[in-house]
Amino acid sequence: MRRHINIPIFIPHLGCPNQCVFCNQKTISGVREFDISTVKQTIDSTLATTSDEDEVEIAFFGGSFTGIDENLMVDLLKIAYSYIESGQVHSIRCSTRPDYIDSHKLQILKKYGVKVIELGLQSSSDSVLKLTKRGHSFSDEKSAADLIVSSGFSLVGQMMIGLPGSTLELEIETARFIISSGAVAARIYPTVVFRDTELYDMCCIGTYSPIALEEAIERSAKVFSLFLENNINVIRIGLCATENLSSPETYYGGPNHAALGELVINKYYYDKIIEKTNALSVREGEALNIAVARGRLSSVIGQNKNNKILLTKTLGTRLISFSESDEISGFDVSVWKESRENKCT
Ligand code: SF4
Repeated sequence: MRRHINIPIFIPHLGCPNQCVFCNQKTISGVREFDISTVKQTIDSTLATTSDEDEVEIAFFGGSFTGIDENLMVDLLKIAYSYIESGQVHSIRCSTRPDYIDSHKLQILKKYGVKVIELGLQSSSDSVLKLTKRGHSFSDEKSAADLIVSSGFSLVGQMMIGLPGSTLELEIETARFIISSGAVAARIYPTVVFRDTELYDMCCIGTYSPIALEEAIERSAKVFSLFLENNINVIRIGLCATENLSSPETYYGGPNHAALGELVINKYYYDKIIEKTNALSVREGEALNIAVARGRLSSVIGQNKNNKILLTKTLGTRLISFSESDEISGFDVSVWKESRENKCT
């Protein structure tokens, strides 16, 4: 089977001049050293584990790639492009901020084979962007997204849930903007508070409270559902489980769960099933069948059978059976009462 292999290259902060309140990189903002020789080592060691069948991608993550010194950016791209030329790597992606995108930067990215640009579109609300001290406006987000898409790159929008001043409604607007911008995929990051950030200071003086895990799941599930309805692939929900999240020395508060993405998907399925059973008018004691795509059974039943337990209570029936079906794709759910004529897809 053809696997998609991502080789992430984390570019350090390199003195980012911005001060996003949630960012915990300000402590290393003076770090300008970057040992470029490690990049080749990282790529080579991953390539040693891949086969000719695999689809391999190099991803420049961790900072604002197009905001770093241009000579360094080009040197990094040259290294990555040499692997494209040799046929060992198939594509390159990078992540950056809207105000670090212009035609000149895009020309460079194109020249060296970058296909996908991930853009921090944390919120489409100017007031949230201001409270978050992102240092750019919604208009910058629109211009950057337009330029990226019209220049032929695939755009991935990275948005956040629970930022200062944000609400579910504003997050839905942000998701709608990402959809309308022509993005092909999205990442959803519920806001986590790290120590040594301005957001932490805001918590201490009471001007910000992190959203609870349950609320983050609820809000992320709504946004996730909207992306799916509009054929936007959600490639990540929640930060990667790193030491920063597990150590009380770095993590302060906010939705922190090793399986956050899975919990959001469980909630998405629960909401979808309730929506469909409402349309079916399930009566107490009636048997209900629920089918999902192959491989998704545990997601629909939920962690610790949570969805099954909740559905039993909410619908007043213990006769719920879950199955997988080849006829169902993606995150679709099929719900029907015992009689197949009542099938509701
Ligand atoms: S732009 Fe990125 S690296 Fe710079 S402060 Fe904001 S989140 Fe941190």
